Amino acid sequence: MQRRYFLYASAGLIAALLLSPKDMVFADHGEIEKMTLSKDEWEKRLTPEQFRVLRKEGTEPSGTSPLNNEKRKGTYVCAGCGFELFSSDMKYDSGTGWPSFFDTIEGHVETSTDFKLLYPRTEYHCARCGGHQGHVFKDGPKPTGLRYCNNGVALKFVPAEKKTGEEIKEKTE
Ligand SMILES: [Zn+2]
Repeated sequence: MQRRYFLYASAGLIAALLLSPKDMVFADHGEIEKMTLSKDEWEKRLTPEQFRVLRKEGTEPSGTSPLNNEKRKGTYVCAGCGFELFSSDMKYDSGTGWPSFFDTIEGHVETSTDFKLLYPRTEYHCARCGGHQGHVFKDGPKPTGLRYCNNGVALKFVPAEKKTGEEIKEKTE
């Protein structure tokens, strides 16, 4: 048994060494390369409303996001850094006026507890840049029973026919 464990451990180490830092971002288990920018850099990169939501944990007014009506196949990426957070298969109409999802791309979203209202809420954010996305509640549909209530301004939708990389490139040009 010990020998087998050693072999698995070695294989894992070799696989880790073969991956470039870029590939590591999309590894499923930890090892997400964090993106850290200064306040000034974020302000340059984001619109004022994106900055308020992503970096200051603000909330956009209900019913204001065009993504509420987005029904195409594709991927929802963090508006701050382009990291893939949700697929269109995870989206549903919660009737709240915020884009809602019942699941996230595994490992790409992290949670913390906040007390901005009188009761504790579970805040969640992009695992790469830490940008605030929304709050998660336990009144979602099956199979998870979760409702990820997202600020549309904190997301960008990438239609399935377009690759994430191209979208990000366009944004920064
Ligand atoms: Zn991000």
